[in-house]
Amino acid sequence: MFLEPQSRGHRGGWIEVITGSMFSGKTEELIRRLRRTQFANQNLIIYKPKQDDRYSKDKVVSHDANFLESIVVGASAEILNVPRDIHVVGIDEAQFFDMDLPRVCEKLSLSGIRVIIAGLDMDFMGRPFGPIPELMAIAEYVTKVHAICPHCGNLATHSYRLSDETATVVLGEKDKYEPRCRVCYNMGKALDFRAQNGSKKTKKNEKKS
Ligand SMILES: [Zn+2]
Repeated sequence: MFLEPQSRGHRGGWIEVITGSMFSGKTEELIRRLRRTQFANQNLIIYKPKQDDRYSKDKVVSHDANFLESIVVGASAEILNVPRDIHVVGIDEAQFFDMDLPRVCEKLSLSGIRVIIAGLDMDFMGRPFGPIPELMAIAEYVTKVHAICPHCGNLATHSYRLSDETATVVLGEKDKYEPRCRVCYNMGKALDFRAQNGSKKTKKNEKKS
């Protein structure tokens, strides 16, 4: 589990990235770290991109319905307008931001702010997603979290799209995606076919919670 580095007497800020597939607990981990900063009486602010409106326009909400208030911004440059007394900036669904986000995070950390970013490392095709790869490169701390592959029980690293839509961004939940390990992800539709034909997989767990 990630523990905060000792920052007493340390003037500079730093960048943390929490990344992984869908349903891997990225937002839960972001919320966990942000709540700890609240216990430490630090001032925090949370941003998320306009695109992500699955649950709420003004909250960062994890799949288990845990949430913190957040500010929705259209462009990463808007994040530079943080109030002066802020110690910690959280950014959720960062893969949807523009490619200026790494520069924005560098500026914030240089001004002494701890920046905690959560986002998908890969899109549904298994390609590096938006600004996340660069953020992983420049961050002091990178945490990869994993879901569980429902087909084999191994750690899931990929987000498999169940529908045939081909756009890179198709917002959805368990109706549209499932986490898969590398092997099951690469089996693609062959695995769907097997599942439809009498495996143990049921629809029971797929309803939104
Ligand atoms: Zn698997």
